[in-house]
Amino acid sequence: MSIHGGDSLPHDRRLTVLSGPSGVGKSTVVAELRRSHPEVWLSVSVTTRKPRPGETHGVEYFFADDAEFDRLIASGELLEWADFAGHRYGTPRTPVLERLTAGVPTLLEIDLQGARQVRAAMPDALLVFLAPPSWEELERRLRGRGTEPPDVIARRLEVGLTEMAAEKEFDLTIVNTTVKDVCHRLIALMGSSSSS
Ligand code: 5GP
Repeated sequence: MSIHGGDSLPHDRRLTVLSGPSGVGKSTVVAELRRSHPEVWLSVSVTTRKPRPGETHGVEYFFADDAEFDRLIASGELLEWADFAGHRYGTPRTPVLERLTAGVPTLLEIDLQGARQVRAAMPDALLVFLAPPSWEELERRLRGRGTEPPDVIARRLEVGLTEMAAEKEFDLTIVNTTVKDVCHRLIALMGSSSSS
């Protein structure tokens, strides 16, 4: 089956997208899924930010410079991409379509701007909003250790409120109670049965 004839899904497996406000804990969920559910394929994004300690090229991200990222955009190789906190992040298109064609459960963990682009490009995708247990909990996380200046904190909280309002654009919400619970719910949604 061709994977080049547009982005309509060739198989009964849908693409699942995990998104939500920054600070809600998406990357922790993905790290646990990677460990406990290797049968789920997690898309590896390209980013222009520098690797953090412990991150490996090709595992958490493909690390690219600005020129390479420009090239990926120009050649249409990204399914979606967004600017986030001064760096660019994008999802390579071909690996996603290949996994979907092969019937492999496929998950993207991306920001809200990216989720909106996937919605537009692939209307069949299942968009999951990861929500904090409460606004107070997200606020606590966004305030961090209190080392940031007040204007930075105020800006983060303002962005957090806007991001929470995006929930209604999603197909469903999973509340981030515990990482294990979120993983179980995601796995059930994706129709993958084996567990840790
Ligand atoms: P971090 O730099 O902390 O790993 O990620 C920052 C943000 O970028 C997170 O909200 C994460 O979901 C988002 N992100 C990671 N990869 C992608 C991607 O390929 N596309 C988009 N739109 N956002 C991404």
